[in-house]
Amino acid sequence: MVLRTPLIIGNWKMHKTVAEAVAYVTTFLPHIAQVTGIEIGIAPVFTALSSVVAAAAGSALRVLAQNVAAEGPTGAFTGEVAAEMLREVGCYGVIVGHSERRRYYGETDTVVAAKVRRALNAQLLPVACIGETLEEREAGTALSVVERQLRAIAGTLTPDEAPRIVLAYEPVWAIGTGRAATPEVVQVMHRHLRATWEECFGAPAAEALRILYGGSVTADNIAAFTSLPDVDGALVGGASLSPNGFAQLIQRS
Ligand code: PGA
Repeated sequence: MVLRTPLIIGNWKMHKTVAEAVAYVTTFLPHIAQVTGIEIGIAPVFTALSSVVAAAAGSALRVLAQNVAAEGPTGAFTGEVAAEMLREVGCYGVIVGHSERRRYYGETDTVVAAKVRRALNAQLLPVACIGETLEEREAGTALSVVERQLRAIAGTLTPDEAPRIVLAYEPVWAIGTGRAATPEVVQVMHRHLRATWEECFGAPAAEALRILYGGSVTADNIAAFTSLPDVDGALVGGASLSPNGFAQLIQRS
């Protein structure tokens, strides 16, 4: 059996100035210094990335970006940041296809797949987000919608790239609502995603795939998710904004 190292990532979204981000890391690092067997990451805004990488130097804390250009490594794409540029400032990975990007900035499955491709080319770990809306769940199409999102990503990968990506299942209705999915819903979806990955890349790749859950994860409910057989960590928004709170969440995972 393959051991999948759990991964917990704090997605700060559009929060924290550079000064606040660095102060956070200074408070946070001593809390996680003794934590072993879990990979921990934070995803600050672009402007704070360099400073956070510097503040986290020498620690095991991973720094991820929240978005990346679908194009690159350079070009006439005003306002975009290429994967290679994120790599240059010390990013370990990047969140791709978050539902807020899909919803507010029109990112399609095709764009998300292109971003995963760009991240891999630049040796960044893509954390690819997928998840259904409330309407889709109520219509009974949650599994098929999320499978479609997954297959769009899988379609851009070669078999030897399959181990270089992390998935995050984030039902849109659970994000920022205080209404986390039930462990039953999460396990069914994660099992389905792993089975789909197996169809695409074979059983060893499926067993090695890390699938995070995201959507109103807190210190109080994290253990209910991380104890599930097909959950390999969490993508945490609101509950990652306080260093003490996020450290407690990690300790309870
Ligand atoms: P939330 O956000 O934990 O605040 O629900 C999760 C996310 O959007 O990644």
